[in-house]
Amino acid sequence: MSDWAESNLCDETRMSIVDFHTHVAPPWAQDCREQLVREDSCFAALYANPRAKLATLEDLISSMDEAGVTASVALNLGWTSHEMCARTNDYLLEGAARWPGRILPFVAVQPAHPDAAARELERCAAGGARGIGELRPDIQGFSLADADALRPMVEIAAAHGIPVLTHVSEPVGHVYPGKGTVTPEQPYRFALAFPEATLVCAHWGGGLPFYSLMPEVKRTLAHVYFDSAASHYLYGNNVFRVVADLVGADHVLLGSDFPLIRQRRAIEEVRRAGLAAPATDAILGGNASRVLARGERDNVGE
Ligand SMILES: [Zn+2]
Repeated sequence: MSDWAESNLCDETRMSIVDFHTHVAPPWAQDCREQLVREDSCFAALYANPRAKLATLEDLISSMDEAGVTASVALNLGWTSHEMCARTNDYLLEGAARWPGRILPFVAVQPAHPDAAARELERCAAGGARGIGELRPDIQGFSLADADALRPMVEIAAAHGIPVLTHVSEPVGHVYPGKGTVTPEQPYRFALAFPEATLVCAHWGGGLPFYSLMPEVKRTLAHVYFDSAASHYLYGNNVFRVVADLVGADHVLLGSDFPLIRQRRAIEEVRRAGLAAPATDAILGGNASRVLARGERDNVGE
């Protein structure tokens, strides 16, 4: 029996830990890695370096068992072609069926091809998708600020009660592979255009929470959440306390960016952030359960 299963059997009240930001790829993507680097600019941005790790679902499950993670959001990539979105979505949906409740699939769409994206999203929602992402607007060739282009996707997501997760990065600071140019004004404009949509901004939203010192920004971000993916590559550990103070701990989600970052390490970062126990528990899993509750209205702070 795994440590995870044993500890859960021993302590039914043990809180669940949900990692909201992991990436997996099918084994065949590893086999044709060089070809994919040539053919897809998103895959190339992340995996052109042969040392960048690719993980399968089995790798993720064994990491979860080792780190005591109850469930992981398994994100797809922002593939540039519709065909690659669909092929890799199948792998994630199969994983969710094989490990029910542990693998929570977020599927890829290419909004630049709106009809195909809408059909794919309906297919995946019927097949168990729990969200959309990780969108890579800069590489996929659209803007989060383009409300007309995104409206069909947002409407389908709302109809199925599933959140949208997007990559966001900092307009300042050091450059790193895959950083890109989706900076805080894009998710902010998305939130203005779709105030009821549930949006998760990866990597602390590229610093978007810091603007919530402006009251109108804070109001606009009512249904926007921030994951901590790759946090220690970007910020000091006080980012947890600062962002929790600015937008509320109920808007912060544990994200590792596995396999880039070990899940155990990401959990330790939250635990040593010096937050009160209820806030720590919320970030480690309570908030995720609420964001993932299909079709449920977000009533944070109400
Ligand atoms: Zn990202």
